[in-house]
Amino acid sequence: MRCSSTIRAVLCLWFCLTLRASAQPNVTPYTRMTAQLKADAARCPLLRVASLGQSAKGRRDLWLVRLADPRADPAQTIRVLVLCRQHGDEPASTESVLGLIRRIAEGGDPALRASLAHVTLYLIPMVNPDGAEADTRNNGVGADLNRDWGIFHQPETRAVARAAHLLRPSLVLDAHNWDGDDEYNADCLEVPREAATGRGKASHAFQQQAVRDLAACGYPVHPTAWGADTDPRLAHRWFARRNILSALVETHSGSPADTPDFQRRQGLYAALIHGLVRRYAASYATEKPQLDALEGDTMGDVHDAALFPPSPQAATRPFLSLPHGRSCAWLWAIGAYALALWWAQRTHPAASGFPSRPCLQGLGSRYNGKGRSKHGKGFGAVPASHQEARAFRSLVLCPLLLREGKPLAAGWVPKTGYYSLARKRDGTDTTVRSRHGRR
Ligand SMILES: [Zn+2]
Repeated sequence: MRCSSTIRAVLCLWFCLTLRASAQPNVTPYTRMTAQLKADAARCPLLRVASLGQSAKGRRDLWLVRLADPRADPAQTIRVLVLCRQHGDEPASTESVLGLIRRIAEGGDPALRASLAHVTLYLIPMVNPDGAEADTRNNGVGADLNRDWGIFHQPETRAVARAAHLLRPSLVLDAHNWDGDDEYNADCLEVPREAATGRGKASHAFQQQAVRDLAACGYPVHPTAWGADTDPRLAHRWFARRNILSALVETHSGSPADTPDFQRRQGLYAALIHGLVRRYAASYATEKPQLDALEGDTMGDVHDAALFPPSPQAATRPFLSLPHGRSCAWLWAIGAYALALWWAQRTHPAASGFPSRPCLQGLGSRYNGKGRSKHGKGFGAVPASHQEARAFRSLVLCPLLLREGKPLAAGWVPKTGYYSLARKRDGTDTTVRSRHGRR
């Protein structure tokens, strides 16, 4: 009785887990995202990946992806920072950005690539990986990251803010999506409500242009604004207080399992990013000085190299990875060879050319007990002192032995020129060749 109730509980748990997993078929898990980002960056020189730090509970890396022309100086470009998924249960922006990165890695998006001479994109696909894994709004310790800006109690927000100080973005987009029970449930783009001068004027102009661009792409979006009495702990408001153009973009609710709706929201984020990158690239000459003047010196100089060192492969390489590239192919070959030797020694001690441990006993004489060993007559084992001869024999013969798949053994003593190659057949060893005819 007790056993059956346990089985029922296990089955119920399994059913719930599978149901939850199947409820989000379009959502990329953290581990797959990490592997995908590294693979994409490894094959595309426009992409670089860096870790900003780790999440509060799961110790998951917070990945920042830079999409840039490697020949361009990031400080001389218009820099756009996109924050995705501060709330773990809002996955659409993550999927949209991952799709964009994948298309670039595959050589697509020629218009976007052409814009990179003047615009650098910094993408954080998952600001809250713990929340994303648990499918919760808050992070791993229950904190709402988008109510932590300025307070900075959480490592995730601290890491992103630290990166922002190094990158000094010209524009920040913070991507979210509404839940079904939110009062305001529509696609919208929010900027500060300010007087039409300075930053207020620039924010309003950016918002109006973005809304027009999105409408032209088939995404009608409401322009919304926040005033002085609203909660200042949100990311886009924190950036605005540092004179950086920033906007909150929301898409209306829909289940991630609802493919058309999920794709619609991804399309909106992608259209927004594409539109503003192309527009900034086209109007770079006029926009760049205005954006620089707008921000002033509130964020300091651009230190992109602190996150993305000049070496093209340094940032994407994990700490303990083996070297890669054509120039290091010989290292891989030696490693593979050593592995083959080790395997051969373990599985076929005679075949590998290394005498087995009993065979090494009593090797004070030139040969192993007058040409005999436990492996049979004619086994030409090598004196233990002739390490180099043993190594040479193994290196030369091992590929042959492995290829033929037959247990062989050989002995070589340079001083006397003795050489033998014994092939084991039906449990006995046969000397194939011996200069002195010794058996
Ligand atoms: Zn949100």
